[in-house]
Amino acid sequence: MRIITALAALAFALSWPTAAHAWGPLGHRLVARLAESRLDPATRAEVERLLATEGLQSLADVANWADNLRELDPDLGRRTSRWHYVNLGELGCRYDADAACPGGHCVVEAISAQAAILGDRSRSDAERLQALKFVVHFVGDVHQPMHGGNARDRGGNNVQVNLHGKGTNLHALWDSGLLRSARLDEERYLQRLQEAENGPPATAQDTSTPAQWAEQSCAIAVEAYPPRATITDAYLAQHRPVAERQVQIAGERLSALLGTVLARAPATEIPDAD
Ligand SMILES: [Zn+2]
Repeated sequence: MRIITALAALAFALSWPTAAHAWGPLGHRLVARLAESRLDPATRAEVERLLATEGLQSLADVANWADNLRELDPDLGRRTSRWHYVNLGELGCRYDADAACPGGHCVVEAISAQAAILGDRSRSDAERLQALKFVVHFVGDVHQPMHGGNARDRGGNNVQVNLHGKGTNLHALWDSGLLRSARLDEERYLQRLQEAENGPPATAQDTSTPAQWAEQSCAIAVEAYPPRATITDAYLAQHRPVAERQVQIAGERLSALLGTVLARAPATEIPDAD
């Protein structure tokens, strides 16, 4: 029975790529902009240098690139489609690489692998910029609770709900419906989240890992199932702050990760000390 369950979970996990991906564009852009506003000067300089090689200026400009690969580069999109999520619901929200991430094809291992490429200055700028685009996107994804949720309903994609008279699903609700229900445009949302950061710095001493980020998302996801298909204002009021906090934490952690990976001063000729 357990083997059958595991196989069923795997089959669902592999079937996920056809589903909608990730925070909607707004969520990903907010994560990128929050991170960007916190970068130290050395990290910012290297980020800007890499972006400029494609005429880009802001991390927000690349935050949704990985979700658009299906149109931009279908082959790369297919090869990377399992890098946007990891299903931990059936594993008790505990990350186990063998069970949750066969072949390293999940968001947890993708973040580590792409961060390593980004930080490897022996690689070309083109390779490192692509890795930067992946890292910015996947750190957002791993904080969208449904991206760490249940395989059996494909991260909530199979859970039909009704929001304000329109049919949608639980995954889409967490991607964009919750944030949209605040009725703020990007600038005002950014302002609100940055003001909220003046509260206690929840992640000031954050030494957590991508695996733990996914586990935390899973813990939120399994509690996020509405009692009925109709999403009430009470549900929105209860869960919207959770989604917003996830966006905020994602921004903080993305900034810290980029700092760790990129902070080293650009390679320059260092004169011999003798
Ligand atoms: Zn995604």
